[in-house]
Amino acid sequence: MPEQILTRSNLPFTADVERQTRAIYERVRHVIPEVEWPVHAPLIAAINELKRDRNAVILAHNYQTPEIFYGVADYTGDSLGLAQFGAATGADTIVLCGVHFMAETAKILSPDKTVLIPDERAGCSLASSITGADVRALKARHPGVPVVTYVNTTAEVKAESDICCTSANAVKVVDSLGVDEVIFIPDQFLGRHVASRTKVRLILWEGACEVHERFSGQELRDFRQQHPGIHVMAHPECPPDVLAEADYVGSTTAMIQHVADARPREVAMITECSMAGNVAAEFPDVRFIQPCNLCPHMKRITLDKILACLQAGRPVVEVDPAVAVRAKQALDRMLAVGRDAKPGPAPGGID
Ligand code: SF4
Repeated sequence: MPEQILTRSNLPFTADVERQTRAIYERVRHVIPEVEWPVHAPLIAAINELKRDRNAVILAHNYQTPEIFYGVADYTGDSLGLAQFGAATGADTIVLCGVHFMAETAKILSPDKTVLIPDERAGCSLASSITGADVRALKARHPGVPVVTYVNTTAEVKAESDICCTSANAVKVVDSLGVDEVIFIPDQFLGRHVASRTKVRLILWEGACEVHERFSGQELRDFRQQHPGIHVMAHPECPPDVLAEADYVGSTTAMIQHVADARPREVAMITECSMAGNVAAEFPDVRFIQPCNLCPHMKRITLDKILACLQAGRPVVEVDPAVAVRAKQALDRMLAVGRDAKPGPAPGGID
């Protein structure tokens, strides 16, 4: 008899499922109403069983929804952290719950593993803002100027770059090159933020994250009036007027650490919406007020698609080995400089 395909329609919320997922629900009860749990729990139980059978790990980006982040992920973090964790595990298969460039980075660091993405249409406005041909044209226009590339890019773009950076270590990477000028791609806002903290001149690209660019400084000022004393944290992909209004500027990982260290009473996280929900589940004593912008690409990943992808063993993410080798060199050069750097204070704000 052919194996039954498991879907939401044939997975009931039984007493056994309730028992298997009770500990998970205790972690998320602060952010997922009890009435919603029977919708998620059968899928969570089935996915967790299947990933053990298939020797798979599930890696979830900080912007995934809490039922994925806490329900099925073996590791959560930023894109580079996910890829590094995937490379270090003994799993045969990596299911990357994030967007396509993240799955590519996981494949670059784990060429012998099968990398799956639950929805291969999960793209990114930053990654799609620039191509390998664009980078070659930039290099031709600025001969000899090194290219520093944010990790939110395709493998093809990384392969054309001298070195990668994250939002946490971008200043350190730029300064490490010992040059007067670099080409910094593709995020113009991260680039401007880095330029305000280094003496190196940055040649920027006009890319932007469609989620972070929607926030405005005026929105934050209005917000502060409604919530006096609120601690405002912003991701450096936000426009300069937003960063100028923030009390703290940092990468997703740095923001989580900052909440753990500072324990502000009331917080606004100016970044993708689900991130605040995930952090809120971890810190029930901190009140999170969300000016909410969702990433439509991240939201393509659902429990239903994770279950389908684990069962079918696809969509598989492949990277041309010749491209992967060159892209890995750019990633390795960054890792030699340092994975993280302490984020500095926001311009005009506090650390
Ligand atoms: S939040 Fe922005 S940078 Fe991140 S995946 Fe979505 S569009 Fe890309």
